[in-house]
Amino acid sequence: MVVPYTHEPFTNFQDSSNRAEYEAALQLVKNELGKEYPLIIGGERVTTEEKLVSVNPADKNEVVGTVSKANQALAEQAMEKAQEAFKVWSGWDPEARANVLFRAAAIARRRKHEFSAWMAYEIGKTRKEADADSAEAIDFLEYYARQMVELKDGEAINSRWFEHNQYTYQPLGVGLTISPWNLPFAIMAGTTVGPMVAGNTILLKPASLTPVITYKFLEVLEEAGMPAGVVNYIPGSGREIGDYLVEHPKTRFVNFTGSKEVGIGIYEKAAKVQPGQNFLKKTAIEMGGKDTIIVDNEADLDLAAESIVQSAYGFSGQKCSACSRVVAHEDVYEEVLKKVTKMTEELAVGNPVDEATYMGPVCEQSAYEKILDYVEIGKNEARLVTGGSGNNEKGYFIQPTIFADADPNARIMQEEIFGPVVAFTKAKDIQEMIDIANNTDYGLTGSIISNNRAHLEKARREFHVGNLYFNRGCTAAIVGYQPFGGFKLSGTDSKAGGPGYILHFMDPKTVCDQF
Ligand code: GLU
Repeated sequence: MVVPYTHEPFTNFQDSSNRAEYEAALQLVKNELGKEYPLIIGGERVTTEEKLVSVNPADKNEVVGTVSKANQALAEQAMEKAQEAFKVWSGWDPEARANVLFRAAAIARRRKHEFSAWMAYEIGKTRKEADADSAEAIDFLEYYARQMVELKDGEAINSRWFEHNQYTYQPLGVGLTISPWNLPFAIMAGTTVGPMVAGNTILLKPASLTPVITYKFLEVLEEAGMPAGVVNYIPGSGREIGDYLVEHPKTRFVNFTGSKEVGIGIYEKAAKVQPGQNFLKKTAIEMGGKDTIIVDNEADLDLAAESIVQSAYGFSGQKCSACSRVVAHEDVYEEVLKKVTKMTEELAVGNPVDEATYMGPVCEQSAYEKILDYVEIGKNEARLVTGGSGNNEKGYFIQPTIFADADPNARIMQEEIFGPVVAFTKAKDIQEMIDIANNTDYGLTGSIISNNRAHLEKARREFHVGNLYFNRGCTAAIVGYQPFGGFKLSGTDSKAGGPGYILHFMDPKTVCDQF
């Protein structure tokens, strides 16, 4: 028996003992920077000639770690080891599999600040953002473990007098997890341990920007009693090993979180039945967002401004849930814009390890360039209100940026920028606000700030997003409380942290025993 799930609380950094513990973790991780990490294939450490170098985006000269890079031959070897491990792991008692996750959660909880500190150095997370990421990783472990325990005997099903029917779930086989850099602990862990606890074995290809924290998590799984070969750690290039494994005739499923372009490519490639493949691959694909906060005329405008700022600039806007569009009622448009601008101009941009920093860098040079290209596009499409510049001398820093009076069809209102840029547009009534919010290819998150219950209810029905929030920001979904995933070109809406998530990685089986 396990106690019911509740989410991992966030750390109160007002408390000086918590602050001191976090500072100590930063120091511990700083002392570990620059080490080398091998691949993990079937539990064996494998060192390769070719390396990935993980650098601190706040300080380009600081190497976080150097990681071996898998090629196709090693990916194939990992596939074989995962096939072997599947034979054993799929036969484990589901509760014993869940217990590996519970132990991993306990270890991760004890080392939470250390993991957060790795994210500060490896991807530029401030302590608040890193702490939320660590908490979410722990939540995924706790939540999916319980889900497996609940589903272990299948579902209740009717039988007639001459038969006994059973409906149970069985694991699929070897799957590929391709994880993103923006929640490098939470989403990496969640998209690995969900299918894993279901009895599958995993080839884990982490984002090239965050391989070190992923390695650290593999160590936790090993310490928690995961058998060799159940999760194989194979960083490498998408083109070389990602495509190879997506197309591999033995890959049973692909669990991907990342960009729309890559996600669509994976969906297409996985759909093709390869020679020697006698099943259809399953895919769980989570892609981008172009997420809107609607501000109604009857609304708490301070709450609106706070929600917009948090959702647009938390982790420099590098969340698929980030607010990049504001649609405000014409009666309150100027006032909301003024409040958001004032708050934005007060935000401290800087090194994420410093306590005072609200917003750190963006992840790498190419992202820095892409975001600033969008700022240039925005200057021709709308009115730049604040921000609009960057500085990449030391790290990849971009000022939080606001555009006003954007046309709903402008590129900055339609395309995912994945940076600290938000565009405002105005509308005359609730219908027009919802229409503008829905006018995108994506359908991930959205918020409405309103004190008008009829408008909230209309949004509940018509605002077409997978995660809709009333009177709060549109980021920061909690595992088991706000299952997360989107409609339209945001993905397959597999709802991470939701009921039935692990069923995406299992096949239901009906047995009718007539006697
Ligand atoms: N689940 C996260 C949130 O609710 C975002 C996930 C992502 O950006 O990929 O903010």
